[in-house]
Amino acid sequence: MKLLLATNNAHKAREIREILGERFSEILTMKEAGIELDVDEDGSTFAENAQKKARETLAYVGDRFDAVLADDSGLCVDALNGAPGVYSARFSGDAHNDAKNNEKLIELLKDVPDPLRTARFCCCVALQRVGAEPIVAQGEVEGTILHESRGENGFGYDPFFFYAPFQKSFAELSADEKNAVSHRKRALQKLKEALDVENRGRF
Ligand code: IMP
Repeated sequence: MKLLLATNNAHKAREIREILGERFSEILTMKEAGIELDVDEDGSTFAENAQKKARETLAYVGDRFDAVLADDSGLCVDALNGAPGVYSARFSGDAHNDAKNNEKLIELLKDVPDPLRTARFCCCVALQRVGAEPIVAQGEVEGTILHESRGENGFGYDPFFFYAPFQKSFAELSADEKNAVSHRKRALQKLKEALDVENRGRF
């Protein structure tokens, strides 16, 4: 079964191959497959966006692939009623400007005391196969929002996301440490379990 990943992010592709590699005969990113398509992420939940991306990408590639895997993720802060949520990438209005997004986040939280600075990274993955219902799985990782940035690794909100089990921000973790506990890893693991259950039902 040939799987297309609705992403060009090499880190995501590596993680997906590690977890789902044995389930598919071939796994390609959009770039590797020579496909350019920008699906509008205009849903109000991570699940809506991931499913839409998977469905529309599969419809676009026709019979070149048997399945498409798409994901959508972001940061949800309790004191902001779940914001930035699905708007995480463009929170400051400037898509993919991590510094401005973090600046806005910290400004909004400046009067919020430590015990109320709880947050989580959420990731939803959707696997759309030809002629089948999608499989959707969500993973989360809990943390708190720091007042000052810590660490240089990672991307996005990582320098302000404090992960208590390691007593470090996500930007202070190595890629392997972060991947072991990340929202994406947890979502992919759940997807793999759903595929395993489905497979067991067949035999
Ligand atoms: P995407 O759906 O993976 O492209 O993520 C959307 C946005 O959510 C990113 O641009 C980041 O701002 C934020 N985000 C998602 N995952 C992470 C993460 O692991 N660390 C930091 N920020 C993240």
